[in-house]
Amino acid sequence: VRYDSDRQDSVVIDHDRVRPTSKVDFGRGGAWMGRARVCVLGSANMDLVVFADRAPASGETVAGRRFVTIPGGKGANQAIAAARAGGEVSMVGAVGADPYGDEIRAVLAGAGVGVEGVARVEATTGTAHILVEDSGDNSIVVVSGANGTVHDPVAGLDAALEGAEFLLLQLELPMDAVVAGARAAQAHGVKVVLTPAPASPLPPDLLDNVDLLVPNEHEAGILTGKDAPEAAASALLDVVPEVVVTLGARGARWLRRDGGGDHLPAPRVEVRDTTAAGDTFVGALAVALGEGRPMPAALRWAGAAAALSVQREGASTSMPTRDEIDRFDR
Ligand code: ATP
Repeated sequence: VRYDSDRQDSVVIDHDRVRPTSKVDFGRGGAWMGRARVCVLGSANMDLVVFADRAPASGETVAGRRFVTIPGGKGANQAIAAARAGGEVSMVGAVGADPYGDEIRAVLAGAGVGVEGVARVEATTGTAHILVEDSGDNSIVVVSGANGTVHDPVAGLDAALEGAEFLLLQLELPMDAVVAGARAAQAHGVKVVLTPAPASPLPPDLLDNVDLLVPNEHEAGILTGKDAPEAAASALLDVVPEVVVTLGARGARWLRRDGGGDHLPAPRVEVRDTTAAGDTFVGALAVALGEGRPMPAALRWAGAAAALSVQREGASTSMPTRDEIDRFDR
């Protein structure tokens, strides 16, 4: 998917460019164990983005300058990021039986994501209505639509988990579906990575089945009540065995209950748009870990992927391919 800022209808799907490579690579610091198999249970939205001088006051109408539709949702973003990074990815979730749903499934499939588990249901596809003002401020209304229909038991989940190494979860689906996903993954021997976004209280029956928690700094603070990332990461080890707190341009802090840990700085790059940096990071991290790379090497590779994504505009539109990540991570 290419984002063309000169055109009004400016999203172009380029399927050749997003197909994952089949290149075999032994990677930095880890033995190749074949393609990483990653399952994502999560949200798929169409982002409807309007650019205007300013937001209208209540009852007022203002003229917008430009409108674009971009497939998004944290689940779809993480799935596309992992597929571009070279993973064998399947997604479980729901879209509406409408044109946005069809487009999202086509974009996922075009990126190489298995969409058998993305149901088409009798609800509207989830939408995020985003107004971007000239000042850079934005306001967003999210209608969860079809995402809100995914409940325990989750249709298609067991089939998608079969043979997977990692399940990626976020918090944009109903909580009972997220809890069920983590429980099913443990039953299949699949490791669970949870991005706790949007930040909300995490029930114990979810935390019991999480192997790796990846909050950003803000979410780590909300979950623990501690401002310092180091303190927040330590506190989170009371509830999960391993934590990576992402710190934007400052990289990521990794801590493990058994004593391991490190700070991984981010590469210095010129930033254009940080949208979905976190999702790119998590998708690439799961692929690297699934290939058998040790955590420090996997974090470094994921940091390279995210650093590439912040240099481009958009969410799914900004995620790098495996070759691009490898070239950057020399
Ligand atoms: P988003 O909500 O925008 O998807 P996030 O808030 O979930 O992102 P961040 O901590 O901002 O997550 O960023 C995730 C990762 O992306 C960081 O750990 C880092 O590796 C990379 N990253 C983010 N911003 C930058 C930057 N300015 N320069 C280089 N890397 C960055």
